[in-house]
Amino acid sequence: KQILKTDVFGKRYVYMDVTESTNLEARRLAQQGAEEGTVVVTEEQAAGRGRLSRGWYSPFGKGLWFSLILRPDFAPVEAPKCTLMAAVALTKAFHKMGLTDAGIKWPNDILVNGRKLVGILTEMSGSMEEISHIVMGIGVNVKTKQEELPEELKLIATSLAMEGIDIERTEAFRIILEALEHQYYDVLDSGFEETLNEWRQLSVTLGEEIEVRAPGNTYEGVATDIDEDGNLLVRIPDGTVKRVMAGDVSIRPR
Ligand code: ADP
Repeated sequence: KQILKTDVFGKRYVYMDVTESTNLEARRLAQQGAEEGTVVVTEEQAAGRGRLSRGWYSPFGKGLWFSLILRPDFAPVEAPKCTLMAAVALTKAFHKMGLTDAGIKWPNDILVNGRKLVGILTEMSGSMEEISHIVMGIGVNVKTKQEELPEELKLIATSLAMEGIDIERTEAFRIILEALEHQYYDVLDSGFEETLNEWRQLSVTLGEEIEVRAPGNTYEGVATDIDEDGNLLVRIPDGTVKRVMAGDVSIRPR
């Protein structure tokens, strides 16, 4: 806690040895009125989650497994902006740590040479008209070694250590929270445009041929851009451009 230099993020800081999922814990706190910037961090998640009820591997002491409560004055359709904002902030934080190969895979992953370093899971509560709070779950593989990865992640996951970045988790956490806070208040103060442009620069998805897998509908195309709400624009072979929303799809390189 003492090591944090942020003003709001982490001001209220809940540390746990183990919890089912930091997003669940943070949501509980948010419902009890926990203020913006509250951070829940754990050594281990017993049931860490990704999107679409996929799991997130969160072994004891090996990563930064945390959730952040935000209460932005956004319309619910704007909630995905938080994911993009976080991805930009984290990628810049990794560049600062010397990991210049880190890039953003739409909508919610940070990759290094095709392997996943970070997962982000943004969950919103509120009504159709108004966000009551957003819980942003972030999992960063820090210390994990190649041989420790479970079989199914051996070819698709990476960690800071595996990328040659030897950094203590506390130091990484400080850099990341600072980057997140900075990016977030930039967006609130000056709008989303600049962050969107940074996202475009840092993305590894734009320009790629991808396969979009939505329930009952799989198609191929080229990712051309994202719109101001964070939807991915995909040009399919007949020339039409499809707008892909996060949440219901996964994409993979072709
Ligand atoms: P997607 O990449 O399709 O967007 P999610 O964002 O939902 O998937 O993340 C869940 C997926 O990430 C899992 O299905 C698994 O393949 C992978 N995964 C789980 N834990 C980790 C981890 N600690 N590091 C890297 N990848 C992981």
